[in-house]
Amino acid sequence: MEKKTSQETLKAYRKRIDTALDNDFLRTAMDRFAVAYKEGRKNAFKDMDTDDLIEQVAILKKKAIENRTALLEEFTFQAEKKGIQVHMAADAQEANNIISHIGKAANCQKVIKSKSMTAEETHLNPWLENRGFKVTETDLGEWIVQLRHEGPSHMVMPAIHLSRYQVADLFSQVTDSRQDAKIEGLVKVARSTLRDNFIEADMGITGANFLIAKTATMGLVTNEGNARLATTLPRVHVVLAGIDKILPSLEDALKVARVLPRNATGQQLTSYVTWITGPSQCTSMETDKREMHIVLLDNGRSAIADDPLFSQVLHCVRCGACANVCPVYRMVGGHQMGHIYIGAIGLITTYFFHGRENARNLVQNCTNCGACKAVCAANIDLPRLIKEVHARIQDEEGHPLKSLLLAKVLKNRKLFHGLLRSASLAQVPVTGNTPYLRHLPMVFSNEHNFRALPAIAKVPFRDRWKKLKPRIDKPAMKIILFSGCVQDFVYPEQLEAAVKLFKKGSVDVEFPMGQSCCGLPAMMMGEKEAARDVAIQNVKAMRGFNAQWIVTLCASCASHLTHATRDLTKGFLPDKEIKDFIQRIIPFSDFINRFAPETVLPGGKDLASHAPKAVSTAGKGKVTWHSPCHLCRGMGVRNAPKDLIAASGQTFVQAEEEETCCGFGGSFSANFPAVSREILTRKLDDAENTGAELLVTECPGCVLQLRGGAVNQERNLKVSHLAELLAGTVKTSSD
Ligand code: SF4
Ligand code: SF4
Repeated sequence: MEKKTSQETLKAYRKRIDTALDNDFLRTAMDRFAVAYKEGRKNAFKDMDTDDLIEQVAILKKKAIENRTALLEEFTFQAEKKGIQVHMAADAQEANNIISHIGKAANCQKVIKSKSMTAEETHLNPWLENRGFKVTETDLGEWIVQLRHEGPSHMVMPAIHLSRYQVADLFSQVTDSRQDAKIEGLVKVARSTLRDNFIEADMGITGANFLIAKTATMGLVTNEGNARLATTLPRVHVVLAGIDKILPSLEDALKVARVLPRNATGQQLTSYVTWITGPSQCTSMETDKREMHIVLLDNGRSAIADDPLFSQVLHCVRCGACANVCPVYRMVGGHQMGHIYIGAIGLITTYFFHGRENARNLVQNCTNCGACKAVCAANIDLPRLIKEVHARIQDEEGHPLKSLLLAKVLKNRKLFHGLLRSASLAQVPVTGNTPYLRHLPMVFSNEHNFRALPAIAKVPFRDRWKKLKPRIDKPAMKIILFSGCVQDFVYPEQLEAAVKLFKKGSVDVEFPMGQSCCGLPAMMMGEKEAARDVAIQNVKAMRGFNAQWIVTLCASCASHLTHATRDLTKGFLPDKEIKDFIQRIIPFSDFINRFAPETVLPGGKDLASHAPKAVSTAGKGKVTWHSPCHLCRGMGVRNAPKDLIAASGQTFVQAEEEETCCGFGGSFSANFPAVSREILTRKLDDAENTGAELLVTECPGCVLQLRGGAVNQERNLKVSHLAELLAGTVKTSSD
């Protein structure tokens, strides 16, 4: 594995990623795991109110963090009463130093460890080895990665990136005899090789899933039983845990324990749940005095706890689910999608625990799909925090020229739109009068060729609006159409299709000319100030129209306007105006389904009776659906578009993983084209496997990605926006 360096450039990081993408085993293993995990998690939470359980975890963790000083005092008091020695470590070095001193003072030489991400965080193993200790990891996965001199690639399954053949080769070297690649045999090898280490060890080091203040009890949830041996066999037991692991009571810990294994691996319970209160007692040898130490690590946690936005990071229970569902992690694995901590939470904590030089590239490797947030055991708003870390890093280090330019242009609507109009004229030599850029401009490298990029429209929607605006005598209601920049300047036909439908439903439409880009591209580039500027412009643009709803055909715009406007504009605009703006945002399909179903179903409003049934047989003339991340997870709209497809007379066929990201992610696909291409290919495979000829979605960014990919890969698949399908304006392949 190529080594990560702290000064790694984005280019070098991309190269590492390319190597991971070339690893067929990794790709297949991660893919299988991602599919199986979703099913396993669903089954594990069956018949339970998952949202409520997760909410309870989020609340109790929040309270514990807020009350951390008192809990820490209580824990220490109770621990010392039970003969546990408690040590406070301000940072990683201090923690490591304390542990090596404990070892030296107790004359220890051989150390066994059970899996601990906190010990990974402090780089404990090399610290101890450099001071003469022999350290052996005893969790099977951790032992494997230790033998390979690499870090874990998952917080719960450290060696998930390796095949049994690789492990067999490794164990053959370790045992000096050829080992078969059979799982049972390999486990036996590990067990017999590690046995002597357990017996001979002087010191056992573990992490802790919970530290209970009321009783000074530490709790561990594991699957292999090695932690029990590590905590009971050696003379000295050291627990290394972050201060965020302290909870008030056993009841709280049990609530977390109900969610943790279900969310981590789809298990109802891990094989071992261990509770330890004080040093283990050796009744056979009364002179054999045991020691137990707890090293409580701060390492920036107190500062995080005091940060109103980032304190939620400390609610994490380290279940690893945010990696399990991440489309990027699935393609490249944990060594590329994390530094020490892996997955979405790793992108954020790397900045706090291991410095911005290690986080700088990582935080850009996110499509903003929201899958991590949707499964988080502690309800952490991970995608938002990733964007915030990106913005902070840019503020601290200085903004790259390209994002500065983008910010400058986006803030100035007239300049932005003027540039798009000029580009529309200038592009003629590269479009050859086709809807696509046939030769990519010089700013793009070859790897961006994975999808056909659309040409900018000759006439943007805003310049067509005067002629298009329908005259409606007795409007059923009045709405504002929010276009977003991609539909306005690239796909005006999608908006025209919607206007046709609104007219049919007697919906009066306004199109305020002061509206601009929604601001999400600026946020994705770490340009928060520019995002704020456009948010303010957009809210102000809606003034005076007196419309009931602000309808958008772009799921990303809908989600960004709904979730980001309050924080961006607070203090810059009246609270009531912000609230009113946010409450009126509605995605296109949700609006049609709720208020104007007769536009797609002549004479009838009962869309539910037309709800689609999953059709598994392949065939011609069928329509399948890609659910934009910002529609299903961002806005919670899942069934409306499918109901509408069925109600409009189409045969709906459900694709596998219809809610998985298409790989667009705005600047993500420009920064990481190779990953974007792989996610896209997977998506198109799923759509094509349904036998559908038409793939429908509800976000212009998804259309750009999916249509561009289908054209480039010469797939027998058309891609269109839902509005075009409903309005009957979908073009045929020969158009
Ligand atoms: S938002 Fe999506 S791509 Fe980004 S970290 Fe979360 S799951 Fe991964
Ligand atoms: S951030 Fe959430 S999903 Fe990720 S490891 Fe922590 S608790 Fe689990």
